[in-house]
Amino acid sequence: MIFDYPTRASHRRHGPSGYSDYERFRPWLRDEFDFRCVFCLERETWTKVVRGFEIDHVVPVSKSPDLALDYDNLVYACARCNGTKSDQSIPDPYFTLTDGSIQIDSKAKAVGATPNSRKLIHQLDLNSPLMIEWRKLMLEFERLSESKPDALERLTRLPSDLPDLRKLRPKANSQPNGIALSWKLKESSS
Ligand SMILES: [Zn+2]
Repeated sequence: MIFDYPTRASHRRHGPSGYSDYERFRPWLRDEFDFRCVFCLERETWTKVVRGFEIDHVVPVSKSPDLALDYDNLVYACARCNGTKSDQSIPDPYFTLTDGSIQIDSKAKAVGATPNSRKLIHQLDLNSPLMIEWRKLMLEFERLSESKPDALERLTRLPSDLPDLRKLRPKANSQPNGIALSWKLKESSS
């Protein structure tokens, strides 16, 4: 289901460090967050905006400049959510939006089961009229495509430019085994 939030492991798959520019983390974050916005689950393949996705600092740089280049403080977000989040301090969405703590109900509304997920829904304005209308539209596409496997595949497919993380050279990587679990390698082995 397109609006089922993923279950996250207790730590990230990747752990690059040592880049001097946070943009260099982009390929790692794209893969880590499955090419989707961590907040609203929009997919890269749904946007027509080149570089419509941005890198968000969970703890804003204005509050903790020392975390500006800390991979665990970076998430992948659509421009809408990154703009809405702005420099608010938020519960870490990597952990907060885990299985069961946020669900989309039959009226396309985001519902949080925990104080932190409710706080995130509020801070990211995930139930604005625009967001609800957008979700309704996408859910309608999903419903209509259930009888058409090709259409469902197109709705949920990965982008064509999957990053090859083997070719990247961060100064260090605390999770080297994560590369074997990256989408590019998973796809080439299937
Ligand atoms: Zn978003």
